[in-house]
Amino acid sequence: MHQVQLTAYAYLFRQLTDELEAGLEIRSLIKTKVPKIEYHRYAARTDSHFRRFFQIVRQYLDDLDRADFVYRPGFGCTMCDFRDGPCVAALA
Ligand code: SF4
Repeated sequence: MHQVQLTAYAYLFRQLTDELEAGLEIRSLIKTKVPKIEYHRYAARTDSHFRRFFQIVRQYLDDLDRADFVYRPGFGCTMCDFRDGPCVAALA
């Protein structure tokens, strides 16, 4: 679920520091009666993570160049103004 996000962060980290990340972590605030934080840890990214990541980026840029809209649902859809209108209409 977080693969693209984590791989993008790892790539930027490596570019900025010239070092490999020791690992990756997603921290989620859980809104229970007594709020708590959940930690999800992942290993450093591999070549295959970066291959998949740049395939996605390349495809996205190609779609933009062709002015194609390709539905890519994700977490951002929950906060998107287009989720009940133009986005759904584009799929029809
Ligand atoms: S609902 Fe918004 S964020 Fe989700 S795919 Fe459509 S345009 Fe993109």
